[in-house]
Amino acid sequence: MTTRQKRRQMQRRKKQLRRIRRRLRAYAARALVLTVLLLVGFLIIKGAIWILKSPEKLEDVFQGARIIEGGEEEPEGSPLIVLDAGHGGRDQGTSAGSALEKEINLAMVKKLAEELRAAGAAVLLTREDDTKVGLEERAAYANDKEAEIFVSLHCNFCEDDTGVKGVECYYRESSPEGQALAESIVRRMEEEEEISCRGTRIGDFRVLNKTDMPAVLVEMGYLSNRNECADLTDEAYQKLMAKRLAEGILANAHPSEPVSEKK
Ligand SMILES: [Zn+2]
Repeated sequence: MTTRQKRRQMQRRKKQLRRIRRRLRAYAARALVLTVLLLVGFLIIKGAIWILKSPEKLEDVFQGARIIEGGEEEPEGSPLIVLDAGHGGRDQGTSAGSALEKEINLAMVKKLAEELRAAGAAVLLTREDDTKVGLEERAAYANDKEAEIFVSLHCNFCEDDTGVKGVECYYRESSPEGQALAESIVRRMEEEEEISCRGTRIGDFRVLNKTDMPAVLVEMGYLSNRNECADLTDEAYQKLMAKRLAEGILANAHPSEPVSEKK
């Protein structure tokens, strides 16, 4: 090959390379534009869904919670109590085997509502079925209804020590009324032989910090403890726990008239 031929070949190759590079750049630009368009489209759709859904969701929460006496007005002089079953929907809380916290909380809230209603209290629930309710929504609901007492029910879990068990009753810091309510509940728990109790504690929980009324969060026991987990899923134990919880709540709501002395 002469030098001239070699040079021509080199030039041809360079031209080819340039063409390929140009084409690649064009493809890359198109891909970029397409990605941006897809992203913008996705965000618009997502935003539209959010705007359409959120007011509905809030409405559901407020409609879902209603007075448990067939929508009757609350009895004169009875305290309005908002009960809050922790977690729900996709948020199942803690769990051990088939025992799910969200289910135990809901079952307990329903039993507790029954006990309180039987004693003449007006009761509202933040959720009555397996739906997810935001923490702020739960507190806002109790505030909106001007509840006098807020009680949130949960189950605990201790990964490091399966021996740990017992009820813990939390109240927000510098809330003497919340503390009194927690102490009243714990007193009833301690009187009950079948229930272990670990006492009252200060708790930094959103549902406690955002509620305006005396509020407690009850960790009803540890699912990590085999015996307590079995108890918490047991119908009879749930009823007993609900009874003691109701007594503790009402003893504090009417300190001069303890439930046990009522005829
Ligand atoms: Zn929980």
